Amino acid sequence: MVRCTTARVDLQALEANLRAIGSYLEDEARLNRGAGRGPVLPPGIIAVVKANAYGHGARRVAQTLEASGATMLAVADIEEGVDLRKSGVRAPILVFGALSVSDLDGVFDHELTPTISSPAAGAALQAAALARRTSLHYHLKIDTGMNRLGFRHDNLRLTLPQLLSSANLVLDAVHTHFGTAEEPGNPLFGEQRDRFERACVAIGELGAGPRLRHAANSAALLRDSRVWYDFVRPGLLLYGLVPPPLGSTLPLKPVMSLTSQVVAVKGVRVGETVGYDGRFRAERATTLAVIPAGYADGLDRRLEGRGSVLIRGRRAPIVGAVSMDMLTADVTDIDTVGPGDEVVLIGSQGSDPQQTIDAREMAAWIGTIPYEVLCRLGSRVERKYE
Ligand SMILES: *Cc1c(COP(=O)(O)O)cnc(C)c1O
Repeated sequence: MVRCTTARVDLQALEANLRAIGSYLEDEARLNRGAGRGPVLPPGIIAVVKANAYGHGARRVAQTLEASGATMLAVADIEEGVDLRKSGVRAPILVFGALSVSDLDGVFDHELTPTISSPAAGAALQAAALARRTSLHYHLKIDTGMNRLGFRHDNLRLTLPQLLSSANLVLDAVHTHFGTAEEPGNPLFGEQRDRFERACVAIGELGAGPRLRHAANSAALLRDSRVWYDFVRPGLLLYGLVPPPLGSTLPLKPVMSLTSQVVAVKGVRVGETVGYDGRFRAERATTLAVIPAGYADGLDRRLEGRGSVLIRGRRAPIVGAVSMDMLTADVTDIDTVGPGDEVVLIGSQGSDPQQTIDAREMAAWIGTIPYEVLCRLGSRVERKYE
């Protein structure tokens, strides 16, 4: 049997988005050259494919990005990196996350590039590299104000010397991560930039500079070419979405669409309720389309009464509880809806550009961010690559 709720992953759109980001970086760098300010060379692109490539399927996405010329790929943990290697990806793979809870062997056996973000992680990797009589290239993470992972920016002279003198570890690059890049008014962004640059000077004074540097996620990449350094690290942009509330004129196309089919049409009389808890009560004779997609597929229960789906090129409001395996949409105002009709949950239908629902809009309905909408797509939803 084939489930009709499927996610289409448009690999050509993914490729085109990578190219669009690359052209943007080149154009801006050229403008900077003319104006005598900011970076004059475009940075390389570290394509972020963590969390199953934001729900799109890490293997196919990584293979496509590798073939389209991404400099490096990035994942959250060693296990994700090992999985990509097993699928044949040969590009350099950076691991962002903490190493303390992972099996370090994967780093060596599968040639991953770890991020070292604490003295203890450095000591463990040095011991492991020595035992294997090998040397290991790594990136160093500086915490400039996010207060999660990384060496604090303000006491590197105390915390770094042991790592920098590790005989089997080779420092390739230094990076940091912004906490507020998508909030133009927030001063922390500039502070983090200053702290990062001072940290890089300090690392140089400790005898380990200059090294490659990177800092910019999608929002920072769009906002400020001064934080491009040697590499940028877009995730969301690659998947065709701009981090809200930012806007952009980049010609991006959402990579994922989510579609289903009407499996039943039901007439409801005035005064009757629909679904669990009976929160929706029909105030007029109502026609409902039953759609086999629910919270087990990643559709949030808060969509009830807030979201819509597209059927026959029109928006049909989601009414009644979103249940585990289905939801119901009010199609009273749409003519001749029947079983088998296509339902678009994310994506467009017909030629009217108004009739598009993207992950950003769905996120806004339920008070979250598009990242969460994409990552939560359920594992039973088949990804169809095209
Ligand atoms: C997830 C992540 C990114 C990508 O963020 P986007 O907002 O999706 O561009 C970049 N850097 C790090 C360290 C991350 O964890």
